[in-house]
Formats: sequence, C-alpha cells, structure tokens
Amino acid sequence: MAEVSESGGRVVVVGAINTDIVINAPRLPGRGETVVGDSVQRFGGGKGANAAVAAARAGADVRLIGAVGKDADGAHALQDLTSDQVNVEAVSQLDGVATGAALIVVDADGDNQIAVGAGANGHVCAETVAGVLESLLPVAGCVLVSTEIHGPAAAAAVRRSVDAGVGCILNPAPVIPEILDLRGPHLILTPNRYEAIDFAARITGEAQSDVSEAAVARAGAALTAHTGGAVVITLGGDGVLVCRGAEQTKVPALPATVRDTTGAGDTFNGVLAARLAAGDDLRTAVVAAVTAASISVASAGARTGMPTWRQIQEVAR
Ligand code: ADP
Repeated sequence: MAEVSESGGRVVVVGAINTDIVINAPRLPGRGETVVGDSVQRFGGGKGANAAVAAARAGADVRLIGAVGKDADGAHALQDLTSDQVNVEAVSQLDGVATGAALIVVDADGDNQIAVGAGANGHVCAETVAGVLESLLPVAGCVLVSTEIHGPAAAAAVRRSVDAGVGCILNPAPVIPEILDLRGPHLILTPNRYEAIDFAARITGEAQSDVSEAAVARAGAALTAHTGGAVVITLGGDGVLVCRGAEQTKVPALPATVRDTTGAGDTFNGVLAARLAAGDDLRTAVVAAVTAASISVASAGARTGMPTWRQIQEVAR
C-alpha cells in the first residue's frame, strides 16, 4: 500500500501558462462594438499554472512543464509561480512568440466573455515534454495534464505517464482529438459535466444535448468503459461524480459563499494531484479536492482563494 504523507508528494504538471487580462465593463461588447470599462487587472492564469499553484499550496513538490514567450509577461508569470514554490526549470522561454493570454470582459452582472490566445502554449513541443518526463517520472507521485497546450504534447505526456504506471490526471478542457484514444488503468479523467458529455459523444458517435444528471451518469459510464480508468466529473456547486468500473459515487460540494468560481476546476485538479501523490486513495483525495475547490470560490480571482493543506484540513474537520 502507498505511504500516506501529511503534506505532499511529487507532482508534475503539464499545461498552459497565461496572463489573464480582466476588464470590468458595464456590458459585454456585441459584434464590432467597443465598450469602455473603468478597470484593467492582470492576473497569473492558465489551467496548468493555476493547478500547479493549487498543488503547491496543498503541500506538493511541484514541477511545471510548459512554455512562455521571452517577454515581460513570461518573466512575470515565472516569478509569480516561483514565489508560490512551483519549480519552473522545465518551462521553456521561447523566442519570437508571445506568452499566452486570456482577455476577459466581465459585465455588471458578473457574466463574462473570454478570448484566449495560445501564444507559447501552442508551441509546447511533444518531444521536449517526453524528454523532461523521462527524467521526472521515476520520482513522480502523480502527473496532471490539461489540454490548452499543443495537442500532441498533451497526449504524449499522458501516454508516457500511464505507460510508466504513474497515476495521470487528464483535465480535458477542452476535449481535443488527440486525447480521444488515451486509455489505461492509471488514467483519471476530470471533465466538468459539459466536457464529459462532449467527450462521450465523440467516442460513441451519438450527439447529446441533454445535460441532466442521468445524461452525465451515462457519459461517466461510457468514459470509464472506454478508458479502463477512473472518471471524476466536476458538477460545480453540486460537487463531483466519481466513476470507476460500474460504480458511481457522488461527493457533495461544501456550502460556500460564492464570489468567483474562476479557477475552481484548477484548484480541484491541483489538490487532487497533490493528495494522490501523497498516497491518498482516489475517494479520500477527491474529498480533499472538493473541500479545497469549495474554499477557493469564496475569493475573487483564480489563485487568491486557493487554500493551504492546513486550511483544507481545518475545514474538513
Ligand atoms: P470547472 O471550473 O472546471 O468548470 P466546476 O465548475 O465543476 O469546474 O467546479 C469544480 C469544483 O469546484 C466543483 O466540483 C466543486 O467542488 C467546486 N465548486 C464550484 N462551484 C461551486 C459552488 N458554487 N459552491 C461550492 N463549490 C463549488
């Protein structure tokens, strides 16, 4: 049986690093329209970088694999990550390409409109990822991959990890063609309900517009049968559905004062990886991850509310 550690194990994260530029405007712009808001804020973002921070705060020793441009945003992103104890030695700084960015417009009701420019994330090289993983996999407790990067690089990372028998979480956000045939008992898919239904529709060939609880459960069953691994579907304020073989168990979210759900999924994934790397079984790790994600939604911004392992334990008590 794996040893359970209080704080952390080693986590390798492969994913996107972005600068989030947030503009608060009275309303969202229509086609061809300019709206003027009064505030502009810049935050560190990207699913890979956010999840790496969540895992590090939860006590894991975290390595991030990804890419930024050789520009001020890239330098800033690496500085932020380092100050959150994320090891960025395996992040490439690429010439001639900008650091990825998300332009986020938030209206007075809190609704948003987002456009993402992949920039350097789209140039993460599959061979480089495979090479770096080769040296990290022997000491990794868990690998976490998300798909906002160059598709073949994300798929290569998952393949290497599951072939080496290392637990690999794949956050299919978005669902991309390169991941549809990934399989193995060490694979844990973590889609949200929409991604689960989209993923299942692509592998079964049956288009689905129903997002009811029953449809999500059917998608979970189709995905576990397809991958032979586990599938953990996040359901926002309803918590998560853990699917393994024919078994499905719901883990409820904690009641939360919701201020901002940006990054809730990243917090969930990062803490899940940290706890699996620490030796927790899947169900115990999911409970910790749900607790952390429910804490994180009470604060504005993706990373501000990400809790430490001590804060997670205090709430779970
Ligand atoms: P994503 O951000 O990837 O779409 P979800 O919205 O499903 O992911 O949220 C991920 C997790 O964050 C949920 O499983 C839950 O644990 C937590 N969470 C999200 N929204 C809420 C909420 N309103 N109240 C409590 N917890 C929440």
